[in-house]
Amino acid sequence: MASIFTKIISGEIPSFKIYEDENYFAFLDINPNALGHTLCVPKKEVDQVFDLDDDALSGLMIFSKKVAHAIKKAVVCKRVGISVIGLEVPHVHVHLIPINTMGDMSFDSKIQLTKDQFVEIMNKIKSYI
Ligand code: AMP
Repeated sequence: MASIFTKIISGEIPSFKIYEDENYFAFLDINPNALGHTLCVPKKEVDQVFDLDDDALSGLMIFSKKVAHAIKKAVVCKRVGISVIGLEVPHVHVHLIPINTMGDMSFDSKIQLTKDQFVEIMNKIKSYI
């Protein structure tokens, strides 16, 4: 069965899309740690990050770098943190999270955003891609 991220990539499930190219897709995390929390996903559905072949893994990092630079311009933060977990969704994804402290990488504290706030930050990040 297709993963929820495959359904997002195909458009079957809506998302706050930031950017895509031939092989990768970026969209806002629906339950963000921080404003601008974005997921970068390979279109090819693979569960675990270190099962990606070398080209797919390096391509994912290069794609994530482009998105992270746009996030850094769009959100006031010290840096953009990167994390790969995958315990909830078994389809490789890189979390890009604007951070000011180590604690900001914690998945225990979440923020609530309205749809308008999601759309606003989506458009702002997109404008810097
Ligand atoms: P994990 O697999 O543990 O890295 O976590 C999966 C992440 O995907 C979580 O941060 C969720 O909030 C996020 N997520 C799950 N479903 C969606 C969705 N439909 N749209 C955007 N983000 C999602």
